[in-house]
Amino acid sequence: MTAPTFPTGTILGYPRIGRRRELKRAVEAFWAGRIDAAELETTAAELRAATRERLAALGLGRTDSAIPESFSYYDQVLDAAVAVGAIPARFERLRGADGRLDLAGYFTVARGEGADAPLEMTKWFDSNYHYLVPEIGPDTAFAANADALVAQVREARAAGFVTRPVLVGPVTFLLLSKAADGAPDGFRPIDRLADLVPVYARLLAELAAAGAEWVQLDEPGLVSESIDEPRERVIAAVSAAYDALGAAVERPAILVAAPYGGLDDALPALAATSVEALALDLVRGDVPTGLDAATTEALAAKTLVAGVVDGHNIWRGDLAHAFALADSLRELSGAVAVSTSTSLLHVPHDVDDETALDARLASWLAFADQKVAQVAVLARGLAEGRDAIADELAAASAALVDRAGAPGVQVPAVRDRLDALGASAFARVDYDTRVAAQDDLALPALPTTTIGSFPQTADIRRARARLVAGELTDAEYRELMREEIARVIRLQEDLGLDVLVHGEPERNDMVQYFAELLDGFAVTQHGWVQSYGSRCTRPSILWGDVSRPAAMTVDWSTYAQSLSDKPVKGMLTGPVTILAWSFVRDDQPLGDTARQVALALRDEIGDLERAGIRIIQVDEPALRELLPLKRADQPAYLDWSVGSFRLATAGAAPATQVHTHLCYSEFGVVIDAIRALDADVTSIEAARSRMEVVGDLAASGFDHGVGPGLYDIHSPRVPSVEEVRALLETAVAGVPAGRLWVNPDCGLKTRGYDETVASLANIVAATRAVREGVTVGA
Ligand code: GLN
Ligand code: ZN
Repeated sequence: MTAPTFPTGTILGYPRIGRRRELKRAVEAFWAGRIDAAELETTAAELRAATRERLAALGLGRTDSAIPESFSYYDQVLDAAVAVGAIPARFERLRGADGRLDLAGYFTVARGEGADAPLEMTKWFDSNYHYLVPEIGPDTAFAANADALVAQVREARAAGFVTRPVLVGPVTFLLLSKAADGAPDGFRPIDRLADLVPVYARLLAELAAAGAEWVQLDEPGLVSESIDEPRERVIAAVSAAYDALGAAVERPAILVAAPYGGLDDALPALAATSVEALALDLVRGDVPTGLDAATTEALAAKTLVAGVVDGHNIWRGDLAHAFALADSLRELSGAVAVSTSTSLLHVPHDVDDETALDARLASWLAFADQKVAQVAVLARGLAEGRDAIADELAAASAALVDRAGAPGVQVPAVRDRLDALGASAFARVDYDTRVAAQDDLALPALPTTTIGSFPQTADIRRARARLVAGELTDAEYRELMREEIARVIRLQEDLGLDVLVHGEPERNDMVQYFAELLDGFAVTQHGWVQSYGSRCTRPSILWGDVSRPAAMTVDWSTYAQSLSDKPVKGMLTGPVTILAWSFVRDDQPLGDTARQVALALRDEIGDLERAGIRIIQVDEPALRELLPLKRADQPAYLDWSVGSFRLATAGAAPATQVHTHLCYSEFGVVIDAIRALDADVTSIEAARSRMEVVGDLAASGFDHGVGPGLYDIHSPRVPSVEEVRALLETAVAGVPAGRLWVNPDCGLKTRGYDETVASLANIVAATRAVREGVTVGA
């Protein structure tokens, strides 16, 4: 086939939740029964239409496939599973007569129903986006269902656009899948590649028939070395899949996109196939060099899409450097286009919406719309020459210079304190000594606790909104929060939990709360990004040197402790997570920034101790998320991330019990790092993966306290006493009872009170039953 020309400027994807989170609201209204499917579909179509118009207005072509169709109601991996018919057996009943899921069925697969657990959820590469993990077995019956994408392509056509549908590619789809329950030992989803590829071919044929000229297949799985599959197999899969898809007669031209890193040895494999275009992430990866003759020749015949505008951060960045990178690809191919390095899913919509932000800071930023405009500028530069965009390049460079010299970006006092630290600032006394010093906490066997937050009720959110709107005074707001804390303490005592929490009602968000109290951060009004499904977060902007002007949590924690004789945990967010869930400055190594945050937390821990708090939890749910995808980069990361946690916590006295919490269950490479954190107790997610983690932990020789989660808080389901008990018995079999803690997977803030109370009651009941059978000290 002769490929249609690829546009000179494009993006790999655009935020889909809406400038004012319209999709979130509509989806949640649908779940609550307030609107029907037709209304939800209308809202979604309006959002897609607005996105196309916006992208065209910002400079992407209307009819040259520059605009991606990257919408999703919930998650793009779930969409791919639906598109290939890979619905787990327990949800077969949701299929209609035509074999399709309706919208309600689609959401049920994502969220679970009754005893039917949802698909597992995990982090998307090194981002804070979570995708749903498809379950693939030897008998999964693949069948093409292009309905959603075809409808979008048609909808765009009707509005005068030729857009580019986006779909997770077949190799990444299988690499991200897990083996379905009941699959024989040793079965790997990638074993099914040969069955899956024809289904993708069918999808492509339907897209071509609907009028798509290009399709984008996302293959970030190829850049990651954290994927548990031998590299030779991955490479062989790439060749097999794209040889076959390339040979399909009826198809759009194919762009394979590889965001989040360099393709390395997958590049020659892809080059050798007949796909028409490759999108390279030149922010994380390098311009390919040292290629063999065959690859060089093959690449020369393809369009190379230069991912030079960082899709994963909010900085305006060095546009001249971005242009030079894109320009340098012309040595490899005559057909070069400019793009974002990743989908813009990870950034908010528009800096111009941030009217409350300091104007100088705002001038250093680029959100999605500004990045699209940058792509348009660079594309013009490629087409017309560098001189044509000299003014834009110079303006971006001037903003960088302004930023480097602005007050607060470098604070000597912060830097001097860090420079003066010795090794002892990073180490506590040995674990056994600490266990002895903590004996007077007098905890029962299998102590029960929660991860920190209790449901953020409408009342709590309303109170915060009224505070922001000036309708409540600070004192009135604090009083309401204290009442909430008192209620939560009473509830936990009634439930019979052993180690209590204050419930975190005062925290809008576990990172933003601290960001607002630390120097060096700014917060946005509308800077929402999708975390999973309808959940969004509003990351703060860490732009300057970090320090703590005053204690941040002590009043709340001491108030809560004053209401109970049981220990109440002090709650902090760790340095790695504060970085991971903020938009972090890119002008110094992350480790330097992390240590600044750690020092502020260290001071806070000292204040909590002095105020009588005996257990302090420092959450690090993002430890794994920031792990570099390339193995060569991992040791340095683990070194600074673990170091910053230790710097934050090592000032604690031996008698202070330090907890940490991690939000996922795939430890693999980070297991040694988790041990190196040297927390006294670590709580982890385990319910959805049915305690798989317990065996992994035992195998790794983990020998501190551990609380594998028994309640999947990402789903509204209440686990029964029997279910919790079975999980707990699995845990008891793998972890000595003296070190085992009982807790949910994560914080309860997104849950309602009814399900929370019922679930915690079942957890306490199950624990009491299991306790009778265990001996501590084993
Ligand atoms: N302490 C936090 C909470 O309970 C932890 C949340 C998290 O790990 N994401 O909400
Ligand atoms: Zn968590």
